Amino acid sequence: MERKKLHIMAIGAHVGDVELSSGITLAKHAILGDDITTVALTAGERGAPSSIPVEEFKEMNIDSASQFAKMLGGRSIVLNYRDGEVPENEDIKFQICDIIRMYKPDVLITHWKNSIHKDHMTTHRVVVDAHFYAALGTMERSKPAHWAKGPYFAENWEDAQGFEPYVFMDVTEGFELWKSAVRKLWLTENSPWFKYLDYYDALSKARGALIHKDRAETFAIDPSQMRMVLSSF
Ligand SMILES: [Zn+2]
Repeated sequence: MERKKLHIMAIGAHVGDVELSSGITLAKHAILGDDITTVALTAGERGAPSSIPVEEFKEMNIDSASQFAKMLGGRSIVLNYRDGEVPENEDIKFQICDIIRMYKPDVLITHWKNSIHKDHMTTHRVVVDAHFYAALGTMERSKPAHWAKGPYFAENWEDAQGFEPYVFMDVTEGFELWKSAVRKLWLTENSPWFKYLDYYDALSKARGALIHKDRAETFAIDPSQMRMVLSSF
């Protein structure tokens, strides 16, 4: 039987968040023939180095998100919220709800709830509520309700507090495509203070070793979803 084509949507706070923390999973699904959408709530322009003006850096980040997604045969959406000021209100939750209803992803990925970055924690809460709004048939919007599996919470070095890996995804096949795509991001090659590529390369190796594969990415899930139902042993 032919495998159903899936659509995976990963929503991060800044350009670079989902590309780095769940990018190998996205690359693997691209290789499987699935559709990929990355969403960043802000371009991450305030991470600009002193040598690049903030507005120029913003355009570079938007362009690099697009290049990453295109290398995976997908699309990127970068919303226009200011870096560091991602709001938490009904407007942004309905905006994400409408994006989910419009693109109809089968699977949703976002940030874990705790982080050293306020935008990441806000994004987690916004996406969890938007996922609920999108699925709720009685929540009237211009598009009909849509339910996506998840959200799955990606393993991001900035979101480590209380993160418990639950889903281990064998991403061995996706690694090479990811490695070439993620180099499109400025910070992968140029960040003077964090070795992004080294970290996520090594992390995928270490997580892979735990499941006897070359490479893995892990995801946490809502603790209330951790339930195994059996009728007998
Ligand atoms: Zn971020």
